[in-house]
Amino acid sequence: VTVGAVRERAPGERRVALVPEAVTLLTRAGIDVLVETGAGSGAWFTDADYTEAGAGVVPADELYARADAVLCVGPPDAETARSLRAGQTLIGLLEPLRHPALVRELAERGVRTVSLDLLPRTLSRAQSMDALTSQANVAGYKAAVLAADSYDRFFPMLTTAAGTMRPAQVLVLGAGVAGLQAIATARRLGAVVTAYDVRPESRGEVESLGARFLDIQSQAPGEPGAGQGGYARELTEEEQRAQRAALDAHIARTDIVITTAQVPGRKPPSLVTAAAVRAMKPGSVVVDLAASDLGGNVEGSEPDKTDVLDNGVTVIGAGRLPSAMATAASTAYARNLVALLRHLVRDGELVLDPADEITAALLGEASPKGGATS
Ligand code: NAD
Repeated sequence: VTVGAVRERAPGERRVALVPEAVTLLTRAGIDVLVETGAGSGAWFTDADYTEAGAGVVPADELYARADAVLCVGPPDAETARSLRAGQTLIGLLEPLRHPALVRELAERGVRTVSLDLLPRTLSRAQSMDALTSQANVAGYKAAVLAADSYDRFFPMLTTAAGTMRPAQVLVLGAGVAGLQAIATARRLGAVVTAYDVRPESRGEVESLGARFLDIQSQAPGEPGAGQGGYARELTEEEQRAQRAALDAHIARTDIVITTAQVPGRKPPSLVTAAAVRAMKPGSVVVDLAASDLGGNVEGSEPDKTDVLDNGVTVIGAGRLPSAMATAASTAYARNLVALLRHLVRDGELVLDPADEITAALLGEASPKGGATS
């Protein structure tokens, strides 16, 4: 079987699906690897690095002609999608819930799509393939570092000859993979961290990182905050209002707010109102990891945009944080792909067996996120 990693075409995207170390692992497993010319340059991998690792570095048209499976990071642009042919398989974070038309169109043309975003998250067998987790880890780390960089005071408590500086107070909303990494990173920098999630089971994880779990009740009494597959459910309008009101007082007292709350297939929950941001002290920093075209967790935040408001609060609408750390993100993503390909390739052939729980989910045939054909 031949797999080919294409150059990402999305604006600002610096990640690449395979890194040289992954090429070595795949070729050792009997998989032939192609890499598009220049594919790794955004993540500081040269064509020569790939050749040395055992890949054929080829132009796009040759890659599409020869690869059985095309590997990408984000969803393909229209031109890439057109280049795929019947019988070929496209593997990547294809965001099928956001772009259902793309996956449908490819399916109609006989192109199989394996969407890594549909991986069952709680299945331990699938953990090594979990690209959402590997990328969220990078995003959470970078969010904390960005917040620290934009904050004009120290994160840690410092005792110096000039006296003692108090530590920064950080509030992390949403304690999934990205939130937990943001908590851990802010703690390593010495901040005092408080966190909140609608899934009560996250309390233990927050506390084990040395952060305090915020005691507010956002869901109606007796209603669980968790939905399916370990994900949160969408709160009702009324619950969201109650949650925002409960959070307001805490936000006003905090120096840094990092928000990471998501509900699969829905627009991100609105957690921080414009009024709450206005009530923060000058010099405070808000990083919204959920910022998107659909809106984010923070009212008024926009992806890839930093605003310093009149009251001196900096609001950072995080865009592609994993891409901002392209080398680490690509290395982790490529490891996920190696694990996936080891799972899918049998006797030298790519086998997409719908009877296999992991494969079926990735094909969108039994999505735990309530996707395609559930
Ligand atoms: P996600 O990106 O979908 O959401 C981020 C967090 O936002 C979640 O923790 C969610 O509960 C929270 N959230 C949603 N609405 C909220 C609201 N209104 N207020 C506050 N918080 C809100 O989540 P994720 O990081 O992809 O993780 C999803 C699930 O998968 C979690 O349960 C995680 O523990 C689990 N997971 C398990 C494994 C594993 O078992 N190996 C690996 C990765 C993730």
